[in-house]
Amino acid sequence: MYSAKLKFPFHVKTKIIYGAGSRKEMKIEMESRGKKRAMVVTDSFLYKNTDFIKNAEEILGNYCVGIFNEVQPDSAFEIVDKGAKIAGEMKIDTVISIGGGSSIDTAKGICAVLSTGRPIKELMGFGGIGISRLFHIAVPTTAGTGSEVTSAAVIKDTSSGRKLILADPAVTPDVAILDPELIMELPPSITAGTGLDALTHAIEAIHSRRRNPVADAYALHAIRLISKNLKECVIKGNIVQRGMTMIAATIAGIAFNSAMVGIVHAIAHTIGGKYNVPHGLANGILLVPSMRFNMDACPDRYIMVAEAFGIERRKDESDNEYLERALNKIERFVSSLGIPVKLREVGVPEDGLEECAQIAMSDPCILTNPKPISDPSEVLKILKSAW
Ligand code: NAD
Repeated sequence: MYSAKLKFPFHVKTKIIYGAGSRKEMKIEMESRGKKRAMVVTDSFLYKNTDFIKNAEEILGNYCVGIFNEVQPDSAFEIVDKGAKIAGEMKIDTVISIGGGSSIDTAKGICAVLSTGRPIKELMGFGGIGISRLFHIAVPTTAGTGSEVTSAAVIKDTSSGRKLILADPAVTPDVAILDPELIMELPPSITAGTGLDALTHAIEAIHSRRRNPVADAYALHAIRLISKNLKECVIKGNIVQRGMTMIAATIAGIAFNSAMVGIVHAIAHTIGGKYNVPHGLANGILLVPSMRFNMDACPDRYIMVAEAFGIERRKDESDNEYLERALNKIERFVSSLGIPVKLREVGVPEDGLEECAQIAMSDPCILTNPKPISDPSEVLKILKSAW
C-alpha cells in the first residue's frame, strides 16, 4: 500500500475553534495576539442578505475598522488588488474573512499583496510570499472548500478566464472559526455543491500520488461524516448534522492540503474559469466519471473510500464487484442531492470540451492524479462521460 520510500511533511498551522455561537471568539482571538485593527472581507450577497456582518461588527466593536464587501463568487485579481489597497489605507493588522471559499481566498490574496507589496497577478504560483504581515481569522459560511485551513488560494484571471492557484504556507489562515449557526440557512443547492466539494477533496486526497497515512485519517473521517449527514442537510439538517458537514469540510481541507488533489480539480478549475460553473457543483459532476477513469490505478484506495462511505461488502463479492457497486452507490448519492449531474446542464457546450481538456492539462492538480495523464485525449474521455 505504501512503499518503503514513503516520506512526507504534515503541517496544520490553523487553530480551529468549533461550536454554535463560536463566532463571538473572533475578538478574543485578536486580543490574545495583541491585534487591534481588523477589516472584514465578505461578499456582496452575504452583506446585503444576512445579518452576519452586522453581527460581526457588534462582536468586534472598535476592533473592526472597515468592511470590504465586494467579493463575487470566485475570487478575482482586480477584487484582491482593490481589497488590498483599501486594507493598506486602513492600516489593518488583521483580516477576518466571513463567507465561502471566495471570500476566504480573497482575504488570503489580500494578505499576500500586503505582505509583498506586489500585485496579486505576480504572486500566483507556488511560494514567494515569505511571512504574512496580517493575522487572518477565517469564518466559513459554507461547508465545502476547507480554505479556512489550506495554504492555497484560487483566484481568477478574468482577462483569460483561467482560475489560477497561489500556494504558500504564509497565506494559511491563523484561526478558523467553525460556527454551524452560520450555515443553517444555506440553500439546498449550495449545501449540496459545497458538500460535494468536501467529498471530492477527501476522495482525491486518498487516491493522490502524494497520499500519506496522516492525510488518509482526516480524509476517511470526512467521508464518513459527509455520507452520514449531507443528504439530511440538503433537506434541512439540524445544528449537529450541519456542524458535522462543516467539520468534514475542514478536515478534508487538512487532508488535501498535504496530499493534494487530482484530475477532478484540474477540470473543475477549467470549467469554473471558462463557464462559471460553481466549483463544488463541477467537482460533484466530475467525481464519479474521474473515479472510473482512475479505478485501475488505485483499487485499494477506492475500497477504503467505499468502506468509509458505509457500503458493506457482500459475502463472496470480488474486489471488482464491490467497487462497481460502490461507485454506482456514490453516483446515486450525488444525484439524490437534487443538483445537475451532467456538464451539459450547467452551461458547458459540447464543442468546448476539447479546449477544456487542453487547458486542464496545464493545471497543477493534474500532477498528483493517481493515473499519470500525458495526453489531453484522456481528459477528454472523462469530460465526454460527464457531459
Ligand atoms: P462562494 O464563496 O463562491 O459562495 C457561493 C455563493 O454562496 C455566494 O453567492 C455566497 O454569497 C453564497 N453563500 C455563502 N454562504 C452562504 C450562507 N451561509 N447562506 C446563504 N448563501 C451563502 O462558495 P464556496 O463554494 O464556498 O467557494 C468557492 C470558491 O472557493 C471557488 O472559487 C473555489 O475555487 C475556491 N476553493 C478554494 C479552495 C482553497 O483551498 N483555497 C478549496 C476549494 C475551493
